[in-house]
Amino acid sequence: MTDISSDDLKAAGAKVFADDRAHVFHSWSAQGAISPLPIAGAEGSWFWDYDGNRYLDFSSQLVNTNIGHQHPKVVAAIQEQAGRLCTIAPQFANDVRGEAARLIAELAPGDLDYVFFTNGGAEANENAVRMARLHTGRSKVLSAYRSYHGSTSTAIALTGDPRRWANDAVGQSTGGVVHFFGPHLYRSHFHASTEAEECERALLHLEQVIQYEGPATIAAIVLETIVGTAGVLVPPPGYLAGVRALCDKYGIVYIADEVMAGFARSGRWFAVDHWDVTPDLITFAKGSNSGYIPVGGVIISQRIRDTFDQRVYPGGLTYSGHPLACASIVATIDAMREEGVVEHAARLGEEVFGPALRELAAKHPSVGEVRGVGAFWALDLVKNQDTREMLVPYNAAGADAAPMNELGAAMKARGVWPFINFNRLHVVPPCNITEADARKGLEALDEALEVAD
Ligand code: PLP
Repeated sequence: MTDISSDDLKAAGAKVFADDRAHVFHSWSAQGAISPLPIAGAEGSWFWDYDGNRYLDFSSQLVNTNIGHQHPKVVAAIQEQAGRLCTIAPQFANDVRGEAARLIAELAPGDLDYVFFTNGGAEANENAVRMARLHTGRSKVLSAYRSYHGSTSTAIALTGDPRRWANDAVGQSTGGVVHFFGPHLYRSHFHASTEAEECERALLHLEQVIQYEGPATIAAIVLETIVGTAGVLVPPPGYLAGVRALCDKYGIVYIADEVMAGFARSGRWFAVDHWDVTPDLITFAKGSNSGYIPVGGVIISQRIRDTFDQRVYPGGLTYSGHPLACASIVATIDAMREEGVVEHAARLGEEVFGPALRELAAKHPSVGEVRGVGAFWALDLVKNQDTREMLVPYNAAGADAAPMNELGAAMKARGVWPFINFNRLHVVPPCNITEADARKGLEALDEALEVAD
């Protein structure tokens, strides 16, 4: 690494920051309160700014860099591809697109053998819904409260988090999305006391929603296999099999959104593998190429694909199946296989994150429920463990959000970059983080939690 604390670099950082504030419009800059931190570089599980501060990435950049930053094999594959074939319209076959699809199909469960490429996760979900509507000839879609499926029009309508609807034309852009409650024992809607009871009541509720809406009108049920941004809600055993059975019973397409949960994050290639469930469609994005080039897609079976003859156009048609994106998928999957990243993430979850985070919950009164699997964990921050009153309210802003902001600042001051979403703190480092770095981050979290206790 170069001398990143030199005055020249500091001046460069100040210019980067000023240009960004002056010309870039994105959701964080619009809020004004959250300044973009100018970033100078990254490697593995670390990134650094222009002032010489290094951060252990416990966020994976919106749960995305599953294989870490600047992985040499992925970077080399992109460079090699860029020197050979950078862009080609999607009607042309090319070797990397075929290879990326072949590898994904090989990893996907059951008969999911075809890949429809998109440019990200929201677009993948949009297209999965279109395919379900074409396949069934029905229009309604059911999705769970607390889910996040993206921010384009259909995807935001699927998203079951009212906080995200504030400035969107939900119901105008796409009607016919109905939300239902998924299982979540810690703050149960079903007044259940055991996981088995919670699962049973959640499935009963889902079947009642199906019957109320009219089974013959419902094209799809869309579910994050493990709900991500709402705080890593891992479904109880039997829940997804129950959803699968309801879909079979009523001829509904089961779409598993694995944009965040897929590709090693949960300690399996796909999170549905934990429960041996095969959805009708799986959507993916982030981890599939560790976010090096925008990409996403829908994995579909020939059985479903052959039921409609209409052409389905991805929203970003020109770039779908982009050679650079596909080259980075191939290199990511190859590197994950060679380095045993899936197994590593599973082991970290069982031996490091699970035990250490549960210890933190026992030690710190501010930690409520701990949930997770693999390299995919979250803590609820509470005022009181018994009443489960959250440390900051849902949708907290300004002074209300201060306790979580202070916790985030305490982690950053200790060199660990957190992923905080209102009253939940996610622990989502790259899936190939070393055990030593994982423990370093957990120690910083332990110290930082004192500010929330
Ligand atoms: N689905 C899930 C489960 C996600 O977590 C996200 C993004 O966080 C998306 C979809 C949207 O993906 P993208 O930001 O690539 O559109």
